[in-house]
This record gives sequence, C-alpha cells and structure tokens, in this order.
Amino acid sequence: MASLSSPSTEPKSLPPGRIRVLKEGSQPLKKGPVVYWMFRDQRLKDNWALIHAVDQANKANVPVSVAFNLFDQFLGAKARHLGFMLKGLSQLQRSIQDILQIPFFFFQGEAEETIPKFLEECGASLLVTDFSPLRQIRKCKDEICEKVSDSVTIHEVDAHNIVPVWVASHKLEYSAKTIRGKINKLLPEYLTDFPILQPPNKKWDAMNQLIDWDSVIADVLRKGAEVPEIEWCEPGEIAAMEVLMGTKDGFLTKRLKNYSTDRNIPLKPRALSCLSPYLHFGQISAQRCALEAHRFRKLHAQAVDTFLEELIIRRELADNFCYYQPHYDSLEGAWEWARKTLMDHASDKREHVYTMEQLEKAQTADPLWNASQLEMVHFGKMHGFMRMYWAKKILEWTKGPKEAIEICIYLNDKYEIDGRDPNGYVGCMWSICGVHDQGWRERPVFGKIRYMNYAGCKRKFDVDGYIAYIKRLVGETNKRKAQSQLSQTTKQLRC
Ligand SMILES: Cc1cc2nc3c(=O)[nH]c(=O)nc-3n(C[C@H](O)[C@H](O)[C@H](O)COP(=O)(O)OP(=O)(O)OC[C@H]3O[C@@H](n4cnc5c(N)ncnc54)[C@H](O)[C@@H]3O)c2cc1C
Repeated sequence: MASLSSPSTEPKSLPPGRIRVLKEGSQPLKKGPVVYWMFRDQRLKDNWALIHAVDQANKANVPVSVAFNLFDQFLGAKARHLGFMLKGLSQLQRSIQDILQIPFFFFQGEAEETIPKFLEECGASLLVTDFSPLRQIRKCKDEICEKVSDSVTIHEVDAHNIVPVWVASHKLEYSAKTIRGKINKLLPEYLTDFPILQPPNKKWDAMNQLIDWDSVIADVLRKGAEVPEIEWCEPGEIAAMEVLMGTKDGFLTKRLKNYSTDRNIPLKPRALSCLSPYLHFGQISAQRCALEAHRFRKLHAQAVDTFLEELIIRRELADNFCYYQPHYDSLEGAWEWARKTLMDHASDKREHVYTMEQLEKAQTADPLWNASQLEMVHFGKMHGFMRMYWAKKILEWTKGPKEAIEICIYLNDKYEIDGRDPNGYVGCMWSICGVHDQGWRERPVFGKIRYMNYAGCKRKFDVDGYIAYIKRLVGETNKRKAQSQLSQTTKQLRC
C-alpha cells in the first residue's frame, strides 16, 4: 500500500526532479515569451507544468501563454472522448484568461507543425510541455525539438505523476511490489501542497483569443458520432472537484467508507471514485486527490490506503511500464515467461472463437460478458472488476494471444471514456499477458496466465443482478438517445 503518513502541507515550488531539459536553447530566456504546450494535464489548478511556465516567465520578465493542439486523429478518439475533452478545455480557456490573465491559443492539425510555427511567430524562448509516456507524443516532441530554432529551450514537466516517472525508477519495474517501496520513499519529497498561482508579472499583448468552441465541438461530435457522448459525467475542473469532494455525492465526502469492501462489486459502481475520466484528461491532479484523501485517513484508514494504492502505486506503475517498455501495447511487451506460455498454448482448441464484430456487438454465449461489453459501449465506463473478466475472456475466445491483445485494446480505447491511457494498456496487458502479475497453475489456452471464469464471478457477486442492471441501463440510455434525436428533428423542422 502507498504509505502516506506525513504528506507535507507546505506549498513548495517545483522540486528540480520534476523538470527535464529536452533541448537547451542557444539564447537566454529573457529574449522572448514562454509557451506552455498543454497536452495531458488540462487544468489550471494544481498543474506543475503551468506553475513552472509562469515561474520561468516571471524570472525572465517575459509574458507566458498556453497553447493546445487538437490532433486531426489521436488514437481513434471519438465524440465521447473529444466532446468531453473540448468542453473541459472551453471552461479552462475562460478561467485561464479570466483568473490568470494568460491567453489560451487553440490549434488544429499536427502539433509537430502548429507548435513550432507558433513559437516562431511569437518569438518564444522557452517551450514548457507536460509529460506523457505514450509513443505518439514522445515522437511528436522529438520532432518539435528538431524543428524549432536553435535559440529555443524545451522543458518537460511531469505534472501527472506524484513522483515523476523518471525519478520513481530508472528501469522497467516488474510489479507493484518492486516499485512500491521506491515511490513511498519519495512521497515526502513530492507529495506536497501546490503554490497558489498568481497572474504573471508581464502580460501578453493580445489577451483574449476568440475560439469558436461551439463549431469545433459540433464538428468532432459529427465526425465521431459512432461512439456518442456520455451524459452521466460532466466535464471540467469544477465537476472533477465535485466528484472528489462535493457535498452531495463526493467520493471522499460521501462515498469513501465502503471503498475497500465494495469496490470489487460490479453492482455497486458508486463505491468507486469515478475519477478516471478526470484523471485521464488531466482535469484533476492525482496529487490533489491524494492530499485530500489523506485528510480522511483518521475516519476511514483502510479505505484511504486502498484508494491510494490504486491512485498512486498502480497508476504510476502503469506510466512506468509505458515509459520503459516500447512494446507496451503488444505481445512483445510481455515478459519472456508469459510470451512463452502464451505461445505454447496459442493453438489450443478454444470452446468458442468469436470475430471482432461478434465481440463488439456483445454476441457471445456468455450473458455476463455481454453485459460488461454493453456497459462499456453505452455507459462509457465498465466496472473495474468486470474489466479483468472481460479482457481475459477475449484471450479465451480469439484465435491467439496476439489477436486477443489487439482486440482488447481496440475496444477499450474506442469505448471507455478513460481509454487511450497507460492504465488501459497495462490493464489489457495484465489480463492477457500477465504483466505485473505472476505465473499461475498451467491450463489450456491461458497457460500460466491468471484465469477467471463465470463460476468465480458467481461466487463473488450477484451476476444476474448485474446483468439485469445493465439491461436497465442500456434501455434508459437508448430511450434518452431516441428522445434527443426526436427533439433535434423537431428543432430542425421548426427552423
Ligand atoms: C482490461 C482493463 C482495462 C482497463 N482500462 C483502463 C483505462 O482505459 N483507463 C483507466 O484509467 N484505467 C483502466 N483500467 C484500470 C481500472 O480498471 C480503472 O482505472 C478504474 O476502473 C477506473 O475507475 P475509478 O476511477 O472509479 O476507479 P478507482 O478504483 O476509484 O481508482 C481511482 C484511480 O486509481 C487508478 N487505478 C485504479 N485501478 C487501477 C489499475 N488497476 N491500474 C492502474 N490504475 C488504477 C485510476 O487512475 C483510477 O481512476 C483497466 C483495467 C483493466 C483490467
């Protein structure tokens, strides 16, 4: 478990390990403004990358801005993901401009084109970026480093992990057991309160950027309509804090006490924090969640410790995997023992073999699996316990492990609101390739990979109750969809 006996409440400025120099520019920072290219940490509050950008700008007495680039295509994001993200960003633009008086620039296309072009136009001397271990972003940053002029310096700040990924460990960790002690040792240094950001000393010339959010959002909703938005999860920083701390239904304030006992019961989804959409899009800081959770430790010690184990150790272990394992989303990324056992059993006879289409449409002979698939497709967030069962069954019912991992990641990324995340790649790799797990008793198809089955689920929770609950959920979602389509058609007819 994450040991959090004494997080420091002293607001600190950035510990040096949080920042890395990706490129050293030839000119002093005083020559031009600072630009923060925001990607993973889409928030104003508790954002070390933004804090660093403002701090550097103040030190050099130059202005600072935030730039965001909407990629034409990023890991297959659909209306569900992009609608959530852009609605959060439209709120962020307002608060960054109103509260911090920092302009927010919005670009569309490839960041490796738009960001260097913007840096050149504004004569920037420093680019600050936040950190993501995903290969697409790392490649993009390499290209930006190549493209910008010699004079520009580039800093990367890990604003997502509590202990920066490159400080927590210098290598690919084997399991939670091997990284836990390393992270716990560093928590007193890194789990500190945040300084309060003030507007920067020097103002940018053209403050208010006009962004036509309505039309950008309408466009992504139209193009990604195949996976529609979800309604139960309101986007943005304010909503995120409400989910964490709200007086009505906040996780820490109202729901925490049953977390350790009920979090593995799929019929009780509210026992979980439901923070993953906000953490994924960086609309809330994990460090803030951990600091606030710690304040509830006296009341609910076990629940807090269990939550921190997931929030800190498991989440940061996932970043460690994606950062140090180039094949984080394929069979090649499995350890040797796991690859061998999977390949030894690759041609074992399967009881069922389903196509991708059958799986996507929840057309298997297992009503429990179908229910979990429908929960993901319609609700956009499968219960954490069901995710394990769901992924393991994909291994059991596809032609072999290579195809299984491909289908699993494809479906996870397409439908989960928190998909396209290191946690997702590691969740799929844990279930199918034994990553961060150990070998178990050998059996057909799975080899030594941990096995889960229907009978085991039946012993753990009310399987029929879960299936009935999902049926209701899908019925309600479809009804709402039909109503909204009807009202849209009526609106169009009236115009
Ligand atoms: C096959 C499979 C696929 C998964 N896909 C994703 C995904 O796409 N995105 C995603 O964020 N998580 C994924 N997970 C991990 C986990 O199931 C979700 O993080 C969790 O269900 C999110 O709900 P919550 O925030 O209410 O969870 P809580 O239990 O309240 O957890 C709080 C936070 O801790 C972190 N966390 C919890 N469990 C894990 C875990 N096992 N590994 C790493 N971090 C964890 C998450 O950031 C989560 O938001 C996957 C797990 C599996 C087995």
